[in-house]
Amino acid sequence: MSEIASQRPSRIVVDLDAIGHNLQAIRARVGVPVMGIVKANAYGHGLVPVARHLQAQGVDQLGVAFVEEGIALRRAGITTPILVLGGIFGPQVAQFLEHDLEITVSSLDKLRQVEATAEAMGRKASIHLKIDTGMERVGVHSYSAGPFIEAAAASCWCTLKGIYSHLACADDPGSPMTGLQLERFFEGCAHFERIGAPMPLRHLANSGGVLHFPDTWLDIVRPGIVLYGVLPDPASQATIAMRPALSLVSRVVFFKVVNAGNPVSYGATWQPAVDTRIVTVPVGYGDGYPRALSSRGQVLLHGQTHPLVGRVCMDQFMVDIGPQGSAYNEDEVVLIGRQGDAGISTEALAKRAGTIPYEILTGLNERIPREYIGGTDSR
Ligand SMILES: *Cc1c(COP(=O)(O)O)cnc(C)c1O
Repeated sequence: MSEIASQRPSRIVVDLDAIGHNLQAIRARVGVPVMGIVKANAYGHGLVPVARHLQAQGVDQLGVAFVEEGIALRRAGITTPILVLGGIFGPQVAQFLEHDLEITVSSLDKLRQVEATAEAMGRKASIHLKIDTGMERVGVHSYSAGPFIEAAAASCWCTLKGIYSHLACADDPGSPMTGLQLERFFEGCAHFERIGAPMPLRHLANSGGVLHFPDTWLDIVRPGIVLYGVLPDPASQATIAMRPALSLVSRVVFFKVVNAGNPVSYGATWQPAVDTRIVTVPVGYGDGYPRALSSRGQVLLHGQTHPLVGRVCMDQFMVDIGPQGSAYNEDEVVLIGRQGDAGISTEALAKRAGTIPYEILTGLNERIPREYIGGTDSR
């Protein structure tokens, strides 16, 4: 971390040991290999340090969304197999092959593009077939997957490593959609048996699948958010003992008394009914702290919860610590995480902001320095 960054009062603290613990807890639950999903800057936790730690912890495979993320991992010296989950564009195929990245092939056309590039480069492509079982995003519909699977199984320039699909409703243990998707997925996989080709790795389970649907674990699971110790949805059940890995902390940068009736922040949307004490915290929506938390957020100061008041600005926001509250410049303020006996979870913050934990975590951007604790085996 640069000297200037280390002087910034705001930081994200990532506990690598918590991520390692969550990986082992997932493993213990599912009993099959794990593909750790590290897309979107490892859900805001930092792509390379997290991948390095997962590799040191023996994760079987890594998954990212885009080829650029895979290349960044290879450039950082990560040697674990990496699957790029997103749809591909033909001109990108050469990059996959150069950097030894596994390709998601989601149509017959794309299979042909991969084969052509692999042949031209004289290098076999490692591929996973994407079957659409109900997400209607990318992939060949399970009910028309026959010719696609036959072509892939017969391909000289592709090593068929996996076949997979993605669950739309696994966050909710009560949704009947998951059973339906599993059934459709098996229908797609049955083409391998029909043509007598060896079955590649079958995978389906995201975090929701890992938490709630043992039938979806199959040959390898693809957890993302639970690796970071966060539940996907308020309806989800914590069937794994997880530890949240991320804290977001800052410090008081200003203290003042605001007189009754004097509005605070842009738009003058909030004013105190009585004279009160207000502190300013130097974090804003420009860091990825949601503006939707205006007059809805909470922070911890001296181990107690206090309300965020008025609008969140680009670089700062204000907190009402009450008529009797006391605070000094540089006092620690916790936005996500624990302070003393109190805590603010990513899940709770997401609820207040009217969004999901994924959006909170992935929104925390590069302007906030990340600091790593634990994980001594990967640093
Ligand atoms: C993001 C993603 C995952 C991980 O999802 P979580 O809900 O975070 O576990 C798994 N599979 C695919 C295809 C994904 O895009």
